[in-house]
Amino acid sequence: MALIVQKYGGSSVANAESIKRVAKRIVDTRRAGHDVVVAVSAMGDTTDELLDLANEVAPIPAPRELDMLLSSGERISMALLAMAIHSMGFEARSFTGSQAGMITDSQHGAARIVDVTPVRLREALDEGAIVIVAGFQGFNRDTRDITTLGRGGSDTTAVALAAALDADVCEIYSDVDGIFTADPRVIPRAQKLDHISSEEMLELAANGAKVLYIRAVEYARRHGVLIHARSTFSSSEGTYVLGEGMKNPREAEGADMEEPIVAGVATDFSQAKITVAGVPDVPGKAAEIFKIVAKSGANVDMIVQNVSATGRTDISFTVPKADAAGALKALAGEQTEVGFQNLVHDDQIGKLSVVGAGMRTHSGVSAVLFEALSAGGINIEMISTSEIRISVVLRGDDLAEAARTVHTAYGLDGESDATIHAGTGR
Ligand code: ASP
Ligand code: MG
Repeated sequence: MALIVQKYGGSSVANAESIKRVAKRIVDTRRAGHDVVVAVSAMGDTTDELLDLANEVAPIPAPRELDMLLSSGERISMALLAMAIHSMGFEARSFTGSQAGMITDSQHGAARIVDVTPVRLREALDEGAIVIVAGFQGFNRDTRDITTLGRGGSDTTAVALAAALDADVCEIYSDVDGIFTADPRVIPRAQKLDHISSEEMLELAANGAKVLYIRAVEYARRHGVLIHARSTFSSSEGTYVLGEGMKNPREAEGADMEEPIVAGVATDFSQAKITVAGVPDVPGKAAEIFKIVAKSGANVDMIVQNVSATGRTDISFTVPKADAAGALKALAGEQTEVGFQNLVHDDQIGKLSVVGAGMRTHSGVSAVLFEALSAGGINIEMISTSEIRISVVLRGDDLAEAARTVHTAYGLDGESDATIHAGTGR
């Protein structure tokens, strides 16, 4: 008998029918003899609808009230799910984030979990009940207010519960079958991975993969939680995300399989490129520029500076498209102080990343990428690397084609096209 935490995303509980399907799945796990704790998201697009509603009554909704509003989405799904389980003859009890002991800091809309005190959950489990917890929300002890964890926060709720209850596994259910070598909507030959290391998963998520939320993977990595990402809509096994030193539960005792060098390819259409042209080539200018950009709240990803022949240089960097306008405005405001000539904004770019822990120990990994792009006649505009990742910025129109070429070049293509349930991974 194990303690299993399950998380169901909004698309898994979008209507009464799907709530009953999820209830059955939970009951089946209970019938198999396991203790079950469930973290559930708001039904379908509820959170977006509530946000729209808030914006209709106030241009800038008060953060405290917004969290009150948004946290109600998960209260609806948790209660309905508990009712559905009852009607199948099983004992289930739902809890809000604060009842579940999800203690956070006071940052409304982006709260961080600081402590989990699941006293009531333990009691309910001891009494034989299935526990349902509202995802995405917590409680701050100082303000005594309800907080939310940021979009997609239910993944983090589930992982934090798994850590606090010392669960055997945290199953994250969505409408995709697991973690793939690439987004199957971009690369049809993408294959489902049996497992992936949490460090690779973090790099993929940070570079455009949307299946799991970064903060949940980080939390799992820090607290040694085993994640199993799988689909609500099929009974097939998904993908295990393994932290450091964690054993793949599916691997036979003692088996020591050679890991592939590259785990996956990520594509990201969400970045824009800003070029600060004609910057005086003297010490301190990059510092000035990125201080201004940071103050605008923009999150800089890649940076390239050209060599200067004329005493002036161009500095290009990428930021999320949503941050670009603010960064441009801030820079334009300081043009004379910094002394650059002009600003160029380009939001037609795409970023392609190749991720694999094997890069640490194998040479020639980047050569494969550059050869594949060159054979495809695709131009590279920026390059950056980490220990286990190579990223390139390309024309956005070239990204899908480039990703397919590169996926093939690394030998990641499956025998046939991946099944897509038209899912979003949520
Ligand atoms: N309902 C929240 C959202 O849509 C939390 C979640 O789904 O994980 O972002
Ligand atoms: Mg949602």
